[in-house]
Amino acid sequence: MAVLALSDYRRLVVKVGSSLLVDDNGQLNRNWLETLADDIAHLQANGHETLIVSSGAIAIGSSVLGLNKKRARLEDLQAAAAAGQVQLVHAYQEVLGNHGIVAAQILLTPDDTENRRRFLNARGTLGRLLERSVIPIINENDTVATEEIRYGDNDRLAARVAQLVMADALILLSDVDGLYSADPGANPDAKHIPEVGKINGDIIAMAGETRSDIGSGGMATKVQAARIATHAGCSTIIASGAIEHPLHALSENGRCTVFRAEGTPATARKQWLAGVLEVRGEIRIDQGAAQALQNGNSLLPVGVVEVIGNFRRGDVVTVVGPSGKELGRGLTEYSDTDALRLRGCQSEQIEERLGYRARSVMIHRDELVLFESDS
Ligand code: GLU
Repeated sequence: MAVLALSDYRRLVVKVGSSLLVDDNGQLNRNWLETLADDIAHLQANGHETLIVSSGAIAIGSSVLGLNKKRARLEDLQAAAAAGQVQLVHAYQEVLGNHGIVAAQILLTPDDTENRRRFLNARGTLGRLLERSVIPIINENDTVATEEIRYGDNDRLAARVAQLVMADALILLSDVDGLYSADPGANPDAKHIPEVGKINGDIIAMAGETRSDIGSGGMATKVQAARIATHAGCSTIIASGAIEHPLHALSENGRCTVFRAEGTPATARKQWLAGVLEVRGEIRIDQGAAQALQNGNSLLPVGVVEVIGNFRRGDVVTVVGPSGKELGRGLTEYSDTDALRLRGCQSEQIEERLGYRARSVMIHRDELVLFESDS
């Protein structure tokens, strides 16, 4: 069984809509989930990394608590999310466990992807899970999120996760098999669109306001998600998951709409860093560290010789080489005070110097853009 269409992508975020996971009676579609787990195990065996963004907590929890989801109040839905989430993740744990794969639960709020300090935490944790071949099962932290602090739909959450982990593909599985020139339910002449180069006003208009019954996202939110992801260098695929082995079907040229990425995740991240205007401080480094950065490594505390300015973890700082030239910029893992304490320190001494356990790098290589080589 060859994975063809997906073989170009290394790190995939797969978003699973509620309508696929939960039937009309609020019961989990266990058979279907097993086929999804088969596909994910197959991808993993072929060297791909997968993260799952799964909806379904509220739908399952509403049935567990005997709530009518359409008439429920916010606190009912939040209670339903709490009761449903545990069952949802348990199901993933079981179906992936059958393949010897470990699942881990991550619940996010918008602050975790939009606030740079928290972004570093979420990215660090997700990165470590992927290094250990664990599959993160991600959902919005619905039990504490209210209207003004919500992603609102898991399409947008999935796009933010794709951006966070620098995924190169985002697959939005739901009950629709792609974008159409008009609403296919209302218009028999609606044409399926297999590929979108640029998301312009026409594409947004085509997405319209169609909604599915169970989940909260419609085509419009999928196209918005595609816009976030493609700008972050991540191609986005809208496909129907309403068949068994939905990812395998995609690799066998199943019907879908592909939104092509603009550039790569690395170039998108670097463009963003290069464009950040508020640089809060400066970290001066020695020749050894400058060389290490040119070789594609992260900046370690041992190479830091001076720290200037007032900054917090997650702020953008400039990195200055031994000759006084600005080498690049990056998101610092430490505040100025902690960076000063760690100046010249070996990674294994960090905990002793700070009095708490912290990251081993000063600036991670993914969060660093180098301007030109220092000679
Ligand atoms: N987070 C919600 C849940 O798990 C779903 C949101 C959505 O459908 O987009 O029930």
